[in-house]
Amino acid sequence: MQVVCIPEKYTLLEPPSGWSVQQNSGEHMQIFADAPGSRHAAAPFCACCWSVPSSRVYLRNSLTSVSRYTYMGYEGQALGLEGLVLGRFSMRIYLDHNATTPVEPEVLGAMLPYFSADFGIAASIHTPGQRARAAVETAREQVAAVLGARPQEIVFTSGGTESDNHAIFGIVRNAPGRTKHVVTTQTEHEAVLNACQSLEKDSAGAIEVTYLPVDSTGLVDPEAVRDAIRPQTTLITVMHANNELGTVQPLEKIGKIAAQNDIYFHSDAVQSAGKIPLDVNTLGVDLLAISGHKFYAPKGVGALYIRGGTRLRQLLYGGHHQRGFRPGTENVPGIVGLGKAAELARAFLAADSAGVSALRDQLERELLARIPDSRANAMAAPRTPNTTNITLPGIEGEALIIALDLKGLSCSTGAACSSGSVEPSHVLTAIGLAPEEARASVRFSLGRHTTPQEIAAAVEIVPAAVAQLRQLSPAYQK
Ligand code: PLP
Repeated sequence: MQVVCIPEKYTLLEPPSGWSVQQNSGEHMQIFADAPGSRHAAAPFCACCWSVPSSRVYLRNSLTSVSRYTYMGYEGQALGLEGLVLGRFSMRIYLDHNATTPVEPEVLGAMLPYFSADFGIAASIHTPGQRARAAVETAREQVAAVLGARPQEIVFTSGGTESDNHAIFGIVRNAPGRTKHVVTTQTEHEAVLNACQSLEKDSAGAIEVTYLPVDSTGLVDPEAVRDAIRPQTTLITVMHANNELGTVQPLEKIGKIAAQNDIYFHSDAVQSAGKIPLDVNTLGVDLLAISGHKFYAPKGVGALYIRGGTRLRQLLYGGHHQRGFRPGTENVPGIVGLGKAAELARAFLAADSAGVSALRDQLERELLARIPDSRANAMAAPRTPNTTNITLPGIEGEALIIALDLKGLSCSTGAACSSGSVEPSHVLTAIGLAPEEARASVRFSLGRHTTPQEIAAAVEIVPAAVAQLRQLSPAYQK
């Protein structure tokens, strides 16, 4: 059963098929429907009073802004505007979870008190402050537990970008000596690549960075990391899972090489946290970045794991928050949400990843079978269970994204729009794709709530859209 509570002031024109309307104690209107295969028991959920957010119903911040998520393959139109009438349900399939995920109801439920009743800041010594402090410390324990770390090794940040920047600038700027060297890969996220480039640019040649190539599946060779090390190497930074391909790097091997050479090792684990098991000791990392909005916590909150004893310069200067190491008033609701999401990830990771990878494999298999000349990238590499990246010769990825969006399916390309032109993805060109092949590639990333029905619909929608675009493409030889 799936339940959506609709504030009274909205009118339900007609329930979508399979849904029935029920009044709840004369106060609130609710829609009930069966959700085949749901492992979550239904619970009446009220957007007006925020009660019982235990069913997988999504809502946004106030009673004038409620939307049901795509759990059933339907999405209620968001009640973001006055006068918008509910009841015309449209099919929307969200396959862009590497971009961001919805906040889980349990996460939202945990956060809500810290916006209002428990609004204190963790720095105050009075009772409201102490309640906030206790909540932040509980979250620190939850995040540490999912990473196999100790709570005192977790610093809360504003997200993946800040965590990556803090690790990179913090290690390199703190290292002794004038000349320094960093080893990284060509397929890192911009949060790492641009930080490295800025180190080079601002140091007038004193800091050099080696950007290691990857193979055709996106994997870096650990021996190439070893060979790149110089006496001045102060940091090795290699991402755990790639955002575009899902490729999971051999961090354990690189961690051993870093330890043997006494070099700090950082990893951007923004795309692996919550998707595959993560243990900082098994991986041998000294620093590791995660971001809440990639695993069902809100945007704008993340964490940096810093192994005890690591000599790291702080990034921000200010008050005494987080022992002065990361000053700035703690985002208490966000941190509480991050902690809750970490706890859920720990509990559901095995089940989530088995279900998601089966659906991803089915999507990939069927798209490759139904779309002539299509091929999946990085299939032979160890990958996160939710990601597939497919090259569809003869189409422009951006045009396909728009065509699919019009049909109610959300996915993405790795292309970046700069100065009005579409740059091919640096990740796809690094694995050997020609610029036009990279531009013809799209990424589908599934989530915890992706359903078999959504995948069944996607394997109809995508081939039809590709065929349509190819008909218009002079470049595509039929
Ligand atoms: N690193 C990777 C691999 C990412 O995919 C992202 C976001 O897409 C980031 C870092 C940046 O994280 P945030 O959005 O929290 O700043």
